[in-house]
Amino acid sequence: MVRMQLSGGYNLNLAGKPSLDITTALDLPSLISVKASDLQGIKPMMKVKEGDSVKAGDVLFINKLNDKVKIVAPFDGTIKEIKRGNRRVLLEVIIDVSGKQSVSQFKSRSIDEISENDLINHLLDTGSWAFIRQYPYNVIADPELRPRDIYIETLTNEPHVPDMNFVIKDQQEAFEKGVQLLKKITPGNIFMGLANTEVEIPEWLRSLKDTTPVYTNNIYPAGEAAVQSYNIAPMKKDEVIWHINAQDLIAIANLFDSGKLDYSRVMTVSGSCVNKAKYIKTYIGSPVKTFLKDGVSSGENRCISGGIFTGLKIEQDGYMGFYGHSLHVIQEGVEREFLPFQRPGFEKASFSRVFLSTFFGPESFVQTSSQMGEERACIACSHCEDVCPVDIKPQFLFKTILAEDYSMAEKLGVKDCSLCGLCTYVCPSKIDLDEIISSAQQFLHKEG
Ligand code: SF4
Ligand code: SF4
Repeated sequence: MVRMQLSGGYNLNLAGKPSLDITTALDLPSLISVKASDLQGIKPMMKVKEGDSVKAGDVLFINKLNDKVKIVAPFDGTIKEIKRGNRRVLLEVIIDVSGKQSVSQFKSRSIDEISENDLINHLLDTGSWAFIRQYPYNVIADPELRPRDIYIETLTNEPHVPDMNFVIKDQQEAFEKGVQLLKKITPGNIFMGLANTEVEIPEWLRSLKDTTPVYTNNIYPAGEAAVQSYNIAPMKKDEVIWHINAQDLIAIANLFDSGKLDYSRVMTVSGSCVNKAKYIKTYIGSPVKTFLKDGVSSGENRCISGGIFTGLKIEQDGYMGFYGHSLHVIQEGVEREFLPFQRPGFEKASFSRVFLSTFFGPESFVQTSSQMGEERACIACSHCEDVCPVDIKPQFLFKTILAEDYSMAEKLGVKDCSLCGLCTYVCPSKIDLDEIISSAQQFLHKEG
């Protein structure tokens, strides 16, 4: 057991919190997207073309850099569209699954008897490998490496993302099988972040065999693997750690039992612009509109797949991301405030405590996408440094990156950054700090 007291971090109390019950199970939609743009660290090479029929488990594309890493069709269907962006970069593959559940083409495997090599190959062949990611750089894990430790994401405290204490509380058996799988891959520790959230930590998680619980404070981003690793066992040069979301691990354990790919997940739809914020059971890559059946506010809204700090903007006629288990709908901040500097700010969230909301604020805040102004020069306020959970000084780091001094950027901790997004959120000069750091991480990963 390890205790971790996070310094930095920030809890934003956002309006539009999902109610804690799972009464809605969505049908399999007619269209499903596999978002290649979410899969960091790979270079896709297509294995299908528009109009092709696919079975669940057929390869859609492979990683050109290591062709063992495959991304597969989650269901039977027909390739409806292959979307590409600038320079023909693959964005997503949309499959017409016609609302039909897949028939599995994989065999069930016994977890007890499988060897390490067989296990790795089975994860690669079934496309399940993409759920395992690696730090530094938060890319899909490299199957040629072995991690020093593996972190299971059992604590998710970005606002309104599914609360794992709630979601996995009745999934002990599958979770335990997942841990036994991971145990075959690493001789190191299997860490799990634990904290009481709105829901208490399930009792069975506290005493799970072959795992090391990391008891921490429930402050964002204490649940992130990179943050836990930095605080309890920093990575040495050439070491890597892997991490996996608790629901993805359960789905992999179920695949070994049944031979059937399981792309169903419990997700949330939340934010001040949805009529009913709630938990739903649905599928990875589902259309956004299937989440919005209870209606959204009139006016211009912004949809975000993933957390409010780390997620990506998506269109209402688009699809959920590969890793995004929550959809936020917030007001698009197109209206300029009249004399904002003369307002006391009772209703605005404030990290720097400049608004009166710090003392007399509401229980939760309505967040819009407005940045309240353009990017300005850094004013050396240090808010980004205060909030950073891994002791980076983002105000210096971003300048070295813009000057392309990558060796100095490494000394300033660019590899430790978990891309939690908090520095960007609190920066009064609207500098897109995490975006700048992310571009440096991508560059360094490519350079090897
Ligand atoms: S530098 Fe910014 S994005 Fe990176 S961990 Fe620190 S606060 Fe989060
Ligand atoms: S929060 Fe923004 S303005 Fe303040 S020191 Fe950091 S980069 Fe500069």
